[in-house]
Amino acid sequence: MNKIAVVGAGISGLSMANYLERHKIDYHIYERRKKEDLAGHGFLIPQEGIEYLTQIIDPALLFEHGSFLKKYIQYSHTGKKLAEKNLNNVFAISRQALIYLLSENISSEKISYNTTLAPSDKEKGKLKLPDGNTIEADIIIVSDGSKSRIRKCLFKDEKMRQVQENEVVNIIKDEAIAASVENDFMKFHHDQGGLTFGILKLSHDTILWYSQFDNKKYKINECTPNNLKKYMLEVFVDWHPLVSSIIQKSSYENVHLWCVYELEELNPFYKDDIVFIGDAAHPLIPFTSQGVTSALKDSYILTKYLVEEPSVAEAFRKYEAERKPEIETHVKNGRILLNHFLLPIDQQTDNILPISYK
Ligand SMILES: Cc1cc2nc3c(=O)[nH]c(=O)nc-3n(C[C@H](O)[C@H](O)[C@H](O)COP(=O)(O)OP(=O)(O)OC[C@H]3O[C@@H](n4cnc5c(N)ncnc54)[C@H](O)[C@@H]3O)c2cc1C
Repeated sequence: MNKIAVVGAGISGLSMANYLERHKIDYHIYERRKKEDLAGHGFLIPQEGIEYLTQIIDPALLFEHGSFLKKYIQYSHTGKKLAEKNLNNVFAISRQALIYLLSENISSEKISYNTTLAPSDKEKGKLKLPDGNTIEADIIIVSDGSKSRIRKCLFKDEKMRQVQENEVVNIIKDEAIAASVENDFMKFHHDQGGLTFGILKLSHDTILWYSQFDNKKYKINECTPNNLKKYMLEVFVDWHPLVSSIIQKSSYENVHLWCVYELEELNPFYKDDIVFIGDAAHPLIPFTSQGVTSALKDSYILTKYLVEEPSVAEAFRKYEAERKPEIETHVKNGRILLNHFLLPIDQQTDNILPISYK
């Protein structure tokens, strides 16, 4: 098998490396961040994603690092229960824990941190290292995230647009707050739409909370932790006491404001010897909760065809043919869920679950 370079050690790049390891295929990963820089939030992962994850992570170890959620409960902002649905094996885990678990099987000589790859200005269609040298690889697997610079360079006509939603995400370790929360996925909704507050328990002492804002109605200009806290306290002042107390008592050390972007239209998933996986191939808006599962499936299916097919071109073609239709469904569902979120609660239909299923 030819030498493979993987760009990016997020969920996509690391899961790709795990599948390549299983097939004893040689590769090297290049990652922009430092090893210890693990900013991030957490994920809801539907059952299908867990099936792919447990092929590369010991299930017992995986389940120790997150929690299965029992029910999805939708509330009004004052705490009136609006709807409830049983969750079939939906798992919640922090990004940090998942990245750690996926990195465990990768030996240190196979990954270079603090190494940003960029399109080469000398050789068209090639990538260069920070020292200017071109990457020598027969196949380049690009998993550098939703705002992929490499994708933009290859597909110059692509159009990215900001989604009408921002998210403030926070992970806190606080036993008292965690004890006040059930193992359910709780989401509070403003009656007028465009504002929610979600709570997920990750473990006995850790919870993840996130707030989704219609960014046309709610302008968040200041991103420092203190200002975000102030803003959150103002906006959620008259919400159910559980919401306002979590906002009040949380540490803001790990808070993050996400501005969400999507591609107006998907690009091809490959060009010549470069292939895209995960968010780099197809940014999915958070409402789908399908980013991680899609990244895992991309990696699994691309590896399968690289093993089975005699030519790389045929492997890439089959990978795209298999993955693109499903991704198009998630893109469509994501837009439906976004429009739902923007509507007043009494105009929302009964498909309440914030997860896209194919
Ligand atoms: C607010 C929010 C909530 C979300 N919630 C969920 C959820 O509940 N469930 C779910 O399944 N998904 C969720 N997602 C989506 C999910 O985060 C992604 O789909 C998933 O993490 C896959 O990411 P990735 O590995 O493709 O990209 P990323 O996680 O963006 O990783 C890209 C990596 O590439 C590196 N990199 C970038 N450029 C270069 C370069 N030039 N050279 C070298 N390295 C580079 C970066 O440092 C990074 O480590 C959410 C996303 C957001 C924004």
